[in-house]
Amino acid sequence: MSEPRIIVAVDTPGSDAALNVARQLDPRLCRLKVGKEAFVVCGPRLVEEFHGLGFEVFLDLKFHDIPNTVAAACSAAAKLGVWMVNVHASGGKAMLLAAREAINATGAGRTKLIAVTVLTSLTDAALQEVGVQGDVDQQVRRLAGLTKSCELDGVVCSAREAPMLRDAIASPFVLVTPGIRLPMAARDDQVRVVTPADAVRAGADYLVIGRPITAAVSPRVALEEFNSMIQKENNP
Ligand code: C5P
Repeated sequence: MSEPRIIVAVDTPGSDAALNVARQLDPRLCRLKVGKEAFVVCGPRLVEEFHGLGFEVFLDLKFHDIPNTVAAACSAAAKLGVWMVNVHASGGKAMLLAAREAINATGAGRTKLIAVTVLTSLTDAALQEVGVQGDVDQQVRRLAGLTKSCELDGVVCSAREAPMLRDAIASPFVLVTPGIRLPMAARDDQVRVVTPADAVRAGADYLVIGRPITAAVSPRVALEEFNSMIQKENNP
């Protein structure tokens, strides 16, 4: 069986609800993402519980602080044994290098370190308000280049930006894309949604999917449907 490309965002405010979703899924078919909401309520214990169920975990805490602090947080995440952790590329070169070094120093060599370029909630106008010159695409390209030069493993981006980054950045460079919806499905609060097939075609390696799976009548069936759409794209 090929490695799972779907990362299910378990954005629940308590561990009972999170474990209830996880128990309906299959670690051979997906990984799980623990974000700020679940982590602030449940703490590292939730990650350990997910590991106990056999899942690999993406710890999506988007660290952004002085280099020493981010390095310590990344080191702690790697020691927890998570599969992937992330930081904000806009934290700067020294911070990215410190994060890389901290993860390498744990010796685990297994935890992938990726960076957020520009949050998909931000517009060209919002970037200008915080003093960024240029538009979102230019800033995404610039920060992805910085991320690569600091030897991180990849970025979180919109699938919309994936083709541009595939052209601009040499492989290997992991692209993790949220905002995935089936055609005709509810968008919830996502604006720039992309279907699973389009995300794979655009060059995404991993697809982050939350509510379309966690809020489905059967999360397991929903996960299988998403996986079969991706597989069809790989073997048309
Ligand atoms: O439920 P839904 O599929 O919209 O969940 C998407 C997940 O991806 C959420 O956990 C959200 O925080 C995360 N995310 C996102 N857009 C980004 C980065 C992360 O939607 N740019």
